[in-house]
Amino acid sequence: MMIKAFGYAAQSATAPLATFSFERREPGPCDVQIEILYCGVCHSDLHTARNEWKNTVYPVVPGHEIVGRVTRVGGEVKAFKAGDLAGVGCMVDSCGACPDCQEGLEQYCPTFALTYNSPDPHTGQMTYGGYSNRIIVDQRFVLRVPETLDLASVAPLLCAGITTYSPLRQWNVSKGDTVGVVGLGGLGHMAVKFAHAFGAHVVLFTTSPGKTADARRLGADEVVVSKNPDEMKPHTNRFDFILNTVAAPHNLDAYLQLLKRDGTMCLVGAPQDPHPALEVFNLIFKRRRLAGSLIGGIRETQEMLDFCAERDIVSDIELIPIQKINEAYERMLRSDVKYRFVIDMASLGQEAASA
Ligand code: NAP
Ligand code: ZN
Repeated sequence: MMIKAFGYAAQSATAPLATFSFERREPGPCDVQIEILYCGVCHSDLHTARNEWKNTVYPVVPGHEIVGRVTRVGGEVKAFKAGDLAGVGCMVDSCGACPDCQEGLEQYCPTFALTYNSPDPHTGQMTYGGYSNRIIVDQRFVLRVPETLDLASVAPLLCAGITTYSPLRQWNVSKGDTVGVVGLGGLGHMAVKFAHAFGAHVVLFTTSPGKTADARRLGADEVVVSKNPDEMKPHTNRFDFILNTVAAPHNLDAYLQLLKRDGTMCLVGAPQDPHPALEVFNLIFKRRRLAGSLIGGIRETQEMLDFCAERDIVSDIELIPIQKINEAYERMLRSDVKYRFVIDMASLGQEAASA
């Protein structure tokens, strides 16, 4: 028997998202069934809905920043019970046996399943994400959500939070470091908050001069408008670490030059087209490094959520009804988001009832 579900899907790369009825698997012994309360809107949702990464299988139900209530658990689930809060991020399965899984780095497992647009190892159909009323997920991929934080503002931690927390931890960002964050969107504003919380001196690079005051409120010590070369130049050879969250191709050399000797720039932004070719001497002469990072493992995601509870850190959000999702995508493309859209899934209620 399958479970009826309802949400919003894109039926093609050019179609706006619209209502969609589908089925999810009956919970197995290790599964947790969750009624979704809130789902954040990640730029990856937009890349996927519009097939910008050339791998979308339609219909696609995006959404991987999920917070909800457990309604049912399988017989072997010990850590969750009906009524608990639960979170689900970008992954819903992995092999559990490979070296990456063994190290708690499930995001690098060669056969992991993403929350949407992945073949579901349980059913063979594609996975459907959080722009929907309910989801069934293996307990290994369900996170404990702190009761003390605002739930809608917690949702973006499940992707934007962990995707920035993980590289900042990997490169040991701490007091005494000078850290750059490129782009003040969903990921960027969490990077600013975390780098500040870890004690670093934080410099935000933005294409939007109007975000300066917000950046400072969020924890940036300095703000640089990156479109202006005169503003960039004084920062040459200054940074221990730069986290680049930009969702469009751009000139990486402009930022590599800002790293100290042995400094690293880590890319987390995932544009559809390659960045322009870079000047190798910008790496060679100061032994600089260019790196990448994919979300974060489940153990680290829980650590991040617990850290946020302890330090009272959440995302700055704009709560929207799901009927506004297409408008939200257009605003995200214009960098007009402060600083994450989150869907209030209660707005799905009427439509779901009549489906
Ligand atoms: P977002 O909210 O749209 O933020 C991106 C920000 O980049 C914008 O707000 C803007 O900030 C800046 N920007 C946009 N276009 C630019 C341009 N042409 N040149 C320079 N800056 C530009 O997106 P997001 O949800 O944070 O996601 C960012 C990227 O990370 C996406 O590509 C997404 O797919 C990817 N992602 C990767 C992972 C991972 O695991 N690696 C996880 C999640 C998301 P300013 O206005 O401040 O310039
Ligand atoms: Zn995401």
